[in-house]
Amino acid sequence: MKQFDDFQLDSLVLKGIREMGFEEPSPIQAECIPAVLRGEDVIGQAQTGTGKTAAFGIPLLERVNAAQKRVQSVVLAPTRELAIQVSEELRKIGKHKRVRTLPIYGGQSIGRQIKALKQGVHVVIGTPGRMLDHLRRGTLRLDDVETLVLDEADEMLDMGFIDDIEAVMRFLPEHRQLLLFSATMPSGIRHLARKYMKKPRYITVSRGEVTAPVIEQVYYKVLENGKLESLCRILDSEEVEQGILFGRTKKGVDELAEALQARGYLAGGLHGDMAQQQRDRVMNAFRRGDLELLVATDVAARGIDVGSVSHVINYDIPQDAESYVHRIGRTGRAGRTGMALTLVTPREMKQLRSIEEEIGDRLIAKELPTLEEVAE
Ligand code: ADP
Ligand code: MG
Repeated sequence: MKQFDDFQLDSLVLKGIREMGFEEPSPIQAECIPAVLRGEDVIGQAQTGTGKTAAFGIPLLERVNAAQKRVQSVVLAPTRELAIQVSEELRKIGKHKRVRTLPIYGGQSIGRQIKALKQGVHVVIGTPGRMLDHLRRGTLRLDDVETLVLDEADEMLDMGFIDDIEAVMRFLPEHRQLLLFSATMPSGIRHLARKYMKKPRYITVSRGEVTAPVIEQVYYKVLENGKLESLCRILDSEEVEQGILFGRTKKGVDELAEALQARGYLAGGLHGDMAQQQRDRVMNAFRRGDLELLVATDVAARGIDVGSVSHVINYDIPQDAESYVHRIGRTGRAGRTGMALTLVTPREMKQLRSIEEEIGDRLIAKELPTLEEVAE
């Protein structure tokens, strides 16, 4: 088994890793770290929760020259929340080495970001649109960038960022390292790799090898107009440490969050129509544990990693298997057991069956808890 000590890392970086509580590298990290340190272009494929952030983050931080106040690495991520999350993880691992990271994303005042950039930043983590905005204004220069990371590349393509990504790449020096991380490898990603990578090293961790998230998958049959009541019963009988609830629409998310608040749950809603400040406030409260339930749309919850999410609840059944897999990947992170509960109305049973067929797994049917069980 490889150890972090085997990579000959700066002792300050090692200290950061230890403080994160990482004892040994995950399989994707064990393979990626040396390859990235050697300067190779890497495609890393592994399912969610396998530690892809540190797989590129550790070598990236190792290679930063902290004495030089210029942007040396860039990470592109699909959502604001993810940019913040990656920035935070890198900041923590790199803090003893005094590496400065900055997330830049739409919805936050650009003036504030410009000011922060002027202070000197080593690693910028941004969403493609806002990154491009800074590049075109000349408020961000990438002339000295050595490494570009595309994180959650499949998500970025799904969200239609390909043109922005390619535009950002044109601002980078010709000789740069490109790293691409993704849970899946659709043809668009393979195409991107062929176009921009030099002899990429393809590192994949197959299902059997990952610190496989242990997720118990359950469904409850509920009636359309009894959904909220059923949900509350489930919440009261399950030991929900922290849960993410998925709703189909932004309006549905708002309504569910309000209904839960009215019943005394510490719940907050998250979706794309909310002001950025408000979104940040909700995410921070959830991270701190001040909120027990986060009600979100698919897009808002992409890539979010909060360690203590014990339950993912599909209040509305996901549209397809892909969405189902992404949603339930928010629990059972880093080897912890998680619960994925799906509420299914009678006319959605067909959809449940088709999801099961596609994921090659069956969900366990559970009866709704009785009122007596709730009272216990
Ligand atoms: P991915 O990007 O593959 O979905 P993340 O990078 O978000 O996964 O990591 C998932 C969780 O696992 C995070 O909370 C992270 O801090 C934790 N983690 C990463 N590497 C390790 C490790 N080597 N040991 C223990 N926990 C780790
Ligand atoms: Mg990730």
